Amino acid sequence: MTETNLRILLAARPEGAATLDHFRAVEEPPPAPRPGEALLRHRFLSLDPYMRGRMNASKSYAKPVEIGDVMEGQSVAQVVEDLSGTFAPGDWVLGGKGWQRFSAVPVHALVKLDPDAAPPTAHLGVLGMPGTTAWAGCTELAQPRPGETFVVSAASGAVGSVAGQIARRMGARAVGIAGGPDKCAYLRDELGFDDCVDHRAPDFPERLAAACPDGIDSYFENVGGAVQQAVWPLLNDFARVAVCGMVAEYQGDLQPGPNLSSVLRKRLTLRGFIVSDFPRAAPTWRATGARWLRDGTLKYREDVTRGLENAPTAFLGMLTGKNFGKTIVEIT
Ligand code: NDP
Repeated sequence: MTETNLRILLAARPEGAATLDHFRAVEEPPPAPRPGEALLRHRFLSLDPYMRGRMNASKSYAKPVEIGDVMEGQSVAQVVEDLSGTFAPGDWVLGGKGWQRFSAVPVHALVKLDPDAAPPTAHLGVLGMPGTTAWAGCTELAQPRPGETFVVSAASGAVGSVAGQIARRMGARAVGIAGGPDKCAYLRDELGFDDCVDHRAPDFPERLAAACPDGIDSYFENVGGAVQQAVWPLLNDFARVAVCGMVAEYQGDLQPGPNLSSVLRKRLTLRGFIVSDFPRAAPTWRATGARWLRDGTLKYREDVTRGLENAPTAFLGMLTGKNFGKTIVEIT
């Protein structure tokens, strides 16, 4: 093959905020697949906030990326070559590995996609890991109920936009928190959220209180920081909090959390989770979400950047809200 494998590596560990200097692009020959592996040409790369954690050396629920290694990430890809015969050249699969143009992946780790059933990119966002996270967080933890108020932060993003739509289907009043009037208008007018509050407004805490006149019964936490501080006083007795992410702090800006006496006084249920804690959620959500996509009742939006070389810029932008929808890189 004459093409080269463009790869984006971790060049250095950030102390504080990550910048473009922490990434390095290299061109190498494509990998040679070993027995049992397929050679994949990546078409679309998913960029997700968790990748910022992989850039740190600190202990977490997953191993860090080593300096000089390719950045971790999932792609939808097309098969170039599979000597095992499981896949034909051109087949669409989920399971490409890393911020790179090609990877060689064990065939048992690949999921074949039907591009006529749903656009391949949907398997990175609305039907994929982020959508599954929304489903698991809502059905297992936040448990929005009819007549109650459900609040989700980072509401226009890959996880939050799906969580709000699920909460409405479960009968709750869904209030989103998002950055800016355009994102709020989208959530209200196109996704059917009952209300949305701009966390960049100077009087954000007052606006949130006004949008939740009966308090908050369940909260899907994606952000932390100042947003969390505004949400906390509004939680009702016996409220459920699904702690999914703290993106406001991923660049190193750690914030003091709420005093836990509120957990006692209000008898709150607070639980952090990682989507893989609920292995049955992925197949259930894939089937449920696909049905809702087909009948037009589940909506989503993607923010697609062209060119793998632009992945670091798109990634850093996502961490500060420059994305509008699921962040994806089209590998041209
Ligand atoms: P998004 O598409 O929502 O992108 C991140 C968004 O975070 C930005 O668009 C921005 O939206 C918002 N944001 C960033 N900084 C701040 C801030 N200081 N204050 C308020 N909002 C901010 O990402 P995802 O939907 O992919 O992920 C959302 C969250 O879910 C993340 O915390 C992620 O780590 C978590 N997650 C957790 C999983 C798990 O298994 N527990 C799995 C997948 C995701 P805005 O413009 O509205 O401010």
